[in-house]
Amino acid sequence: MLEKQSLGDFITRINSDKAVIVSVSPQSRASLAAFFGLSQSQVFRKLTALFKSMGVKAVYDTSSSRDLSLIEACSEFVTRYHQNQLSSGKEAGKNLPMLSSACPGWICYAEKTLGSFILPYISAVKSPQQAIGAAIKHHMVGKLGLKPHDVYHVTVMPCYDKKLEAVRDDFVFSVEDKDVTEVDSVLTTGEVLDLIQSRSVDFKTLEESPMDRLLTNVDDDGQLYGVSGGSGGYAETVFRHAAHVLFDRKIEGSVDFRILRNSDFREVTLEVEGKPVLKFALCYGFRNLQNIIRKIKMGKCEYHFIEVMACPSGCLNGGGQIKPAKGQSAKDLIQLLEDVYIQDVSVSNPFENPIAKRLYDEWLGQPGSENAKKYLHTKYHPVVKSVASQLQNW
Ligand code: SF4
Repeated sequence: MLEKQSLGDFITRINSDKAVIVSVSPQSRASLAAFFGLSQSQVFRKLTALFKSMGVKAVYDTSSSRDLSLIEACSEFVTRYHQNQLSSGKEAGKNLPMLSSACPGWICYAEKTLGSFILPYISAVKSPQQAIGAAIKHHMVGKLGLKPHDVYHVTVMPCYDKKLEAVRDDFVFSVEDKDVTEVDSVLTTGEVLDLIQSRSVDFKTLEESPMDRLLTNVDDDGQLYGVSGGSGGYAETVFRHAAHVLFDRKIEGSVDFRILRNSDFREVTLEVEGKPVLKFALCYGFRNLQNIIRKIKMGKCEYHFIEVMACPSGCLNGGGQIKPAKGQSAKDLIQLLEDVYIQDVSVSNPFENPIAKRLYDEWLGQPGSENAKKYLHTKYHPVVKSVASQLQNW
C-alpha cells in the first residue's frame, strides 16, 4: 500500500479520470516559504497555481481541519476531566492525563512498544490529516457533485509517518461496495520540492492563483489564520478552553509554557485560589516521552494533558521537511521555520473559524456529538507481538 504514497503515483493519478484534491499542511507551507524566501500566503497561492496547472481540482489547507481536531480535543478533555472527578478507584486513572493523538510517530510507538496500558490515555480525535480526509470524502464530495471514490485525495505533510497513518485500516470505509480511503496518498514537503524542481518551475516568479476558500483558513482580505504552535497548538488550545469552561478563567494573550529539562519539555499550570487545578505539558522527542511514560506507568504523572510529538522541536522539524541549506545548521533552520511560521498568519480561535462552524452546522452537529465521534474520532490497537519476536528479545 505504501507504493501508492509516491510522487510517481501522484503524477499517474493526475492523468487519470479521478478528481485530485491536495491538502497542504501549514508546516510544509512554512518549510517551502523558508526555502524560497517567500511568505506563506505566496507559497500557498503558488502551490495552488502549480497543482492546478497539472490538473488538480482544488488545493486546501489542513489548518482548517486542525481547528476541527482541536475543537473535538477540547470537548474530549472536558468530558474526561468530569469523568475523572466523578469516578473513583482504578478506572479514574484511565481518563487523565489525556495524551494528544496527532503524531503518527508517537501512535506507532504506543501501539507497538507500549501496548494496551497506554492506549486509553490517548485522545480519540483524528489528526488534522485524517480530519480533512473525512471532511472531503464523507461531506465535501456531495457539495462538489462527486462520489467519494471519484476523488483522489493527496496531503502534503512534514513527515513520512503520515504515509503510515493514511494507510491504517481505521481510515478506510465502504461506499457502494467500493473501499474508500480518507487520504489516498501523502507527499512530504521534500517530495513537493522535488516535484517543483523536476518540472523546472521557477517557483519564486510563478504566477499566483487565488486560494480555494472552501477548506482553507483565509479571510475575505486574503489573510491566512490559524492557531499558533508549530505542532498544532493542542496543549495551548485545550488549556485555554478548559480554563474557561471548567474554571471560568479567561486567558488573554499567549499561554506561557515554562521550560523544564530542555526546550522540548515545557509545562504550564493554572492556579485557582493558590491551588494548581490544571497542569499541561508539551513533550517532544522520544527521550522526554520515555520519562513521561515511566511516570504514567507508576501512577505518578501530575499532568492533565500532554501534547506528545515524536520529533524533537515538533512538526516543523519533521523528517519530510526540506533539509538545511549548505552551511546552515539544523538549529538555525528550526529557528528560521519558527519565525516564518508565525509571520503572515493571524492567530485565531478554532471555535470562531467559519469553516469549522459551517461543518458542524451542515454535517457534524455539536462538538463531541455522535456524528463528530463517527467521523472525527478513531481507535488504537495494541500490536500483539509474535512468539518469535518475543523470543528474539530473550
Ligand atoms: S512530530 Fe514528527 S513524526 Fe510526529 S507528526 Fe510531527 S513531523 Fe510527524
